[in-house]
Amino acid sequence: LNRRLAEFGTTIFAEMSALALSTGSINLGQGFPDTDGPEEIREAAVRALRDGRGNQYPPGPGVPELRTAIAAHQERFYGTSYDPGTEVLVTAGATEAVAASLLALVEPGDEVVALEPYYDSYAACIAMAGGTRVPVTLRPHEDRYVLDLDELRAAVTPRTRLLLLNTPHNPTGTVLSREELTAIAALAVERDLLVVTDEVYEHLVFDGEHIPLASLPGMRERTVTVSSAGKTFSFTGWKVGWITASPALVTAVRSAKQYLTYVSAGPFQYAVAEALRLPEAYFTGLREDLRAKRDLLSAGLADAGFEVYRPAGTYFVTTDIRPLGETDGFAFCRALPERCGVVAVPNAVFYDHREEGAPFVRFAFCKRTEVLQDAVARLKGLA
Ligand code: PMP
Ligand code: GLN
Repeated sequence: LNRRLAEFGTTIFAEMSALALSTGSINLGQGFPDTDGPEEIREAAVRALRDGRGNQYPPGPGVPELRTAIAAHQERFYGTSYDPGTEVLVTAGATEAVAASLLALVEPGDEVVALEPYYDSYAACIAMAGGTRVPVTLRPHEDRYVLDLDELRAAVTPRTRLLLLNTPHNPTGTVLSREELTAIAALAVERDLLVVTDEVYEHLVFDGEHIPLASLPGMRERTVTVSSAGKTFSFTGWKVGWITASPALVTAVRSAKQYLTYVSAGPFQYAVAEALRLPEAYFTGLREDLRAKRDLLSAGLADAGFEVYRPAGTYFVTTDIRPLGETDGFAFCRALPERCGVVAVPNAVFYDHREEGAPFVRFAFCKRTEVLQDAVARLKGLA
């Protein structure tokens, strides 16, 4: 393994999901739903396969039906208009979208400012692009995590090329507010920065609202917006993602994508095009379902003695284990399956400042209600 990647090892999700399997524990570690997305969308994928749509290489930017549906989705939910021909690119999940964006836009030695704790692929992709990551740490304040805008401003130097944002934010559940996004936009304009914003949890917001950074004044031309079908439609295994951006940025990101995967899997693209056109009730139903699950797991964790930070969005609730007399999230998560048959993820893996992340542990609530009830009952035994 080369020096760029040597520090990264195996992703925590593979390690913790393997631990869940080998111990027969409830897996609240890796964020994937235990119920598949809509039957009619699965049928659409089967129809595409059967009718021979997408079984051979689809067009490089993605099938036109899906690009049109992505543009229509941005217009419908956010009032932003993108040309499906030049301003949309389909990728192999949001993961490839982030990777291709960084590989296309970062010069070796450029600094990339990212919110810490950050989703684990960000650090590895910044490294593969030859960039230097500059973390800005979100910190607990009362019952949630907040961004210190002064720290963000101070992190930008003449070498900063790009801000890598994520809202709703994994693992803290923070949803950046209009005020925060407005300040970030002003900074990006003032310092002439590009922004890659990962919005895969855009429809999973329980308090407040999701505001795409690209919808703010001055941001459309400098922002690559990333999303994916995984979370919005409960098909994390399909790996259909996309970006929307200006023609110049889409062309740049496509230059990298074409040599990573060339194109993304065909038949699923047709099915996701249908999914993006589902009626409002689908999106509301998903959000309501997950809000109830957030509340169930959060209350159970608080009962079990954890300090719980209220997630405004995503699949995840972050907790502090210090009230349980614990300080090391890694050790805690490695012992948890034996102690009570539940798997969680230590947030320290999402930090450069590992000590800062040490006492925090993330639990996923994108599971069936009875599974969460069982987990809550098991966790009660900890105290
Ligand atoms: N970004 C964030 C913040 C995520 O939590 C995830 C994982 N679910 C991804 C990107 C990856 O998305 P995909 O599965 O579409 O590649
Ligand atoms: N994004 C999901 C999580 O944060 C799973 C990602 C993965 O397995 N790579 O848990």
